[in-house]
Amino acid sequence: MPISIKTAVVAASVALAPLSIAQAQEDARQQVLFTNVHVFDGINEARIENASVLVEGNLIKTISTDGISPGTATVIDGGGRTLTPGFIDNHVHLMLPGPTLPSMEANSTWEDLAISGVASAEMYLMQGFTTVRDAGGANAGLQRAINAGTIIGPRVYPSAAFLGSRGGHADFANYTAPVGAPSNFSRLNMAQEVDNVADVLKFGRNNFRMGASQLKFMQSGGVVSAFDPWQLLAGSPAELEAVVQVASEYGSYVMAHSYRKEAIMSALNAGVRSIEHGFQFDCEISALMAEKDAYITTNLTAFDPGLLDIPAVNSVPASLRKAKSATAAFTDYLDNMRECPAKRGHHTDCVGSVDACNIQIAYEKKLANDFFGAHTSLVAMTSVGGEIAAMTGDFMNPYPEGKLGVIEEGAYADILLLDGNPLEDFSVVGTGDKWFGADPRPESPKSIRIIMKDGVIYKNTLN
Ligand SMILES: [Zn+2]
Repeated sequence: MPISIKTAVVAASVALAPLSIAQAQEDARQQVLFTNVHVFDGINEARIENASVLVEGNLIKTISTDGISPGTATVIDGGGRTLTPGFIDNHVHLMLPGPTLPSMEANSTWEDLAISGVASAEMYLMQGFTTVRDAGGANAGLQRAINAGTIIGPRVYPSAAFLGSRGGHADFANYTAPVGAPSNFSRLNMAQEVDNVADVLKFGRNNFRMGASQLKFMQSGGVVSAFDPWQLLAGSPAELEAVVQVASEYGSYVMAHSYRKEAIMSALNAGVRSIEHGFQFDCEISALMAEKDAYITTNLTAFDPGLLDIPAVNSVPASLRKAKSATAAFTDYLDNMRECPAKRGHHTDCVGSVDACNIQIAYEKKLANDFFGAHTSLVAMTSVGGEIAAMTGDFMNPYPEGKLGVIEEGAYADILLLDGNPLEDFSVVGTGDKWFGADPRPESPKSIRIIMKDGVIYKNTLN
């Protein structure tokens, strides 16, 4: 029904998107000139001092330390602040508002999930994330609405349905659900049960049909999930090769939810390019990752001692037992990552309300700096994320016009302007000191003064 959908989109855009955004998208060919800024380019620790950056349309046209003639450009005097690439979160779940996965499976309609997705998308953008990779649950709908300017949000790389085995980490159905019975999430293509190669091929291809730009496969289990030990090794070598085969048919890649070393090694050997969580990372894995040109993204909140205090963990004896054994098994991750660094992207993995995710996002940023320092954390939040996004390849990359995560000529104009220097005071990226028991932080961080995505300014508090 194309006519009614189009009408709905127009009506929604009038209601939801401020006219300034629609207008700004109309004017997207125009130029914006940032002057008097120090540029963190997403890669180098040394900022480009006293620079000017000219944006034309949705791309960065020129970067210069010799001044740029403004011509007809709108000039923004950065006042000696730091200009950085927009941040990239490589592992979000825009469509999973919580409170728990089983409750969403049992009680959420598509409207509940979509409305939360809209709120969640806007929240990520206002926390400085101009690109997110959705690690399961989101098909192409949110991305389409964001790209059309109907709603506000980051660029989205959707994975569509989680692919996972019966009883594994993508199985959210209730305890008595018969094998093969459709679930709420399977009807919405948010999670699909795959128990053999044929299932993997069928649902993997269906994911691309539904707008995925890459595939997500669940090897390991979880801590608070119902049926699966975190040590689970789901996915036979043939199934892993099948999911990689489907992705390569589309010129894209697979991300795998992998905790145990055995899971990580078998994923890499099957051709998986992005290891999610990867808690048992070690130097042997690092070497194999280098050989396979693979990436790892890890939610550092998993190493927080406060994890054992979460009600969802400590109120369920089985979960508490799992959490304790996981905590004990993951202790070497940080030391191993420091000793044998691998290409590591930023990853929050929040499943929950916008309020809860705001807090978790800010805390994840803080932990990144605590564990790895400002420069490495900023690289993980910018250029590494851009490299991961680019693995979707020429055919499936939803944003193929320019690079992401870098300030370079020809890159997308996804830009933040931060008070101070994040390489010296990381808090200006919008960190939070607490996770559980933290006060709500609904506002976009004050130190993020400008948020530009695709050449459009979504926040500007300079005036
Ligand atoms: Zn996740």
